[in-house]
Amino acid sequence: MKSKILLIYTGGTIGMKQDPENGALVPFNFDQILEEVPELKKFAYQIDTFSFHPPIDSSEIETGFWQEIAILIGSKYDSYDGFVILHGTDTMSFSASALSFMLENLEKPVIFTGSQLPIGMLRTDGKENLISSIEIAAAKDDQGRAMVPEVCIYFESQLYRGNRTTKHNAENFRAFRSSNYPCLAEAGVHIKYNTSFINYPKTWGNNLNINTSLDTNVAILKIFPGVSQQVVSGVLNSKGLRALILETYGSGNAPTKPWLMDILKDAIANGIIILNITQCQAGSVDMDAYSTGILLKKMGVVSGFDCTTEAAVAKLFFLLGHNYDNQQIKDLLRKNLRGEISIN
Ligand code: ASP
Repeated sequence: MKSKILLIYTGGTIGMKQDPENGALVPFNFDQILEEVPELKKFAYQIDTFSFHPPIDSSEIETGFWQEIAILIGSKYDSYDGFVILHGTDTMSFSASALSFMLENLEKPVIFTGSQLPIGMLRTDGKENLISSIEIAAAKDDQGRAMVPEVCIYFESQLYRGNRTTKHNAENFRAFRSSNYPCLAEAGVHIKYNTSFINYPKTWGNNLNINTSLDTNVAILKIFPGVSQQVVSGVLNSKGLRALILETYGSGNAPTKPWLMDILKDAIANGIIILNITQCQAGSVDMDAYSTGILLKKMGVVSGFDCTTEAAVAKLFFLLGHNYDNQQIKDLLRKNLRGEISIN
């Protein structure tokens, strides 16, 4: 039977062209994208399309948009073998992370891709990204099961677990990095799947669970030498704040100034969850490594291990969106829910 793929267009550079008036890139419609890639007709798959109106630059993404995508995938889940989402690169790692939490018991591929150069340009990276993403979304093993039943990002010949990625380059075709987890597949002459790193369901045939309830009362505070008391207390006193991602140095260290310790302690006593994420591109938080980290651990700061900031935001939105109490949320933050941290 022919594989069926749903290609979802949300916007981003892949589908943009230059505005003749000011030279800025603005989105164009989906039919024009398809005209630019006649190769899609050569696939032996059925490729159906869905376009968001109007297509948007991914800098405009809000949580409502993730909810729409999750609901769309849920409503079409039984009719398709895989999903490819064309999305701007700027927030692609956030969206892929969010969808990884929102889609529970996923057994089909959901592949985000886009490009650094619009698809209508001669040197575009968009065609290869799109064509290989479709091939990966349709790929099955010899028992007819999806090769990659995960939310992923495909970019410049690499397939990554979505919630492990960060956009790290605004110009290079290799725009994404997954520093703490190996890539799930690599496209060369053949597409090679690293099956030992792909998450497969323990048992197949479960129903997809869609979680659309998200709570965005989260802030990010990056520690830097000289960070002021006013700034830290301003952030922690934000109305309605429920969780703070504290971006710390190295393996999870922060200055030990008494005023900082006091503000953090008070916040925790007032029910704010503080999650420790390293500012480093690679490696993990280890609050036992230095006395500066031990202090944070003692006061109840939760380790984010090797989670990216993007996945931490998504995980907190998702957990806060449930009716869990703070202790349950802290316990779940320390657990590997969708392959987002290297902990069992
Ligand atoms: N600003 C664009 C976006 O994220 C950049 C891109 O697609 O590469 O929508």
